[in-house]
Amino acid sequence: MANIEFRNVTKVYEPMNKKTKRFKAVDNFNLEIQEGEFIIFVGPSGCGKSTTLRMIAGLEEITDGEISIDGTIVNKVHPKDRNIAMVFQNYALYPHMTVFENMAFSLKLKHVPKEEIRKKVNEAATILGITALLDRKPKALSGGQRQRVALGRAIVRNPAVFLMDEPLSNLDAKLRVQMRTEITNLHKRLNATVIYVTHDQVEAMTMGTRIVVMEGGVIQQIASPNELYRQPSNMFVAGFIGSPAMNFFNGRAIKDKDGIKVSISGFKLLLPAEKAKAVEDGGYLEQEVIVGVRPEHIRYAADIPEINARYQRIEVKAGIVENLGSEELIYFWIEDKQYCAKSSDTDLKSGDAVSLAIDLEKIHVFDPKSKLTISN
Ligand code: ATP
Repeated sequence: MANIEFRNVTKVYEPMNKKTKRFKAVDNFNLEIQEGEFIIFVGPSGCGKSTTLRMIAGLEEITDGEISIDGTIVNKVHPKDRNIAMVFQNYALYPHMTVFENMAFSLKLKHVPKEEIRKKVNEAATILGITALLDRKPKALSGGQRQRVALGRAIVRNPAVFLMDEPLSNLDAKLRVQMRTEITNLHKRLNATVIYVTHDQVEAMTMGTRIVVMEGGVIQQIASPNELYRQPSNMFVAGFIGSPAMNFFNGRAIKDKDGIKVSISGFKLLLPAEKAKAVEDGGYLEQEVIVGVRPEHIRYAADIPEINARYQRIEVKAGIVENLGSEELIYFWIEDKQYCAKSSDTDLKSGDAVSLAIDLEKIHVFDPKSKLTISN
């Protein structure tokens, strides 16, 4: 187990030839990770997640700033001396070795006595339920089994930190879900510090104790899953976390006899007291603002037993209606933009008139220029 600290860490890739330019992949990254945390780096492709992970492992040089592990700056420490184990998406198992040999390999290199190697490999194999596979070669294993071997290889080393780079992305949907819970349980059992890279926000939300959302090499927000969902700090995070994504309505903040509202084409949303205060105090009255509403907070009105002042009804025409079994997604258009609402079982068809209810307590308000949150 270990603490890890990033101080102003920046990574610039130097041009490989005259045609390419320098590229800043990670920009001024600051983060303190406590012992035993399960930290997720999440963000779209190319946002710098893997580069950051590789800098911890020592596989990528740090251009600027410092990374320390347990108080020691490791910028110049060789990867093999960092007491870190990395699990990759492609497993990277040695094809000519058995499962046992794959798991034992790093211990053998360290000249650990044979009996101890056997004990450690057997222990890890028991934890992962792969004892029966120890004599097989990787080609005789399923994807999930290979991924377990890759995890086992990391566990036997008893590292201070586990780094995992999209370890589940090669697995089918069902196995992914199963391995997700297995890794979470493993983390609890080993009480290890884990840093896990993914672009899958379901993995991020379900596995992480804290999530670091990145975009363009820059940290957008660091928070617990709950906080990210409820209090996104900007439109990027708001749109990235949650599926289907948050709806964004362009509007204008106004004040009338009922209070402060956001006027959107065809309807007005009355802001609850705290949100109204943030809008007024921020100087947004008579200004453009963006209202964010998650699909789960725009409900089919008939699903809500009592539509009171907490809700704003809107009348729209259903576009595509997707039945997911446990719920339905109702897509609808306002002017030339498509939005999404959720409902339980309906008989709605495309083209039907539909009455929806927006939960005013759950709306978010953003600044259209800075994209920062005005109120959650
Ligand atoms: P993905 O989810 O696609 O794996 P990522 O968030 O892990 O993406 P990185 O692999 O960290 O992204 O890459 C960050 C950026 O740095 C990308 O734009 C990538 O093209 C660039 N990059 C990565 N490696 C190099 C390199 N060796 N030389 C130049 N640019 C690189």
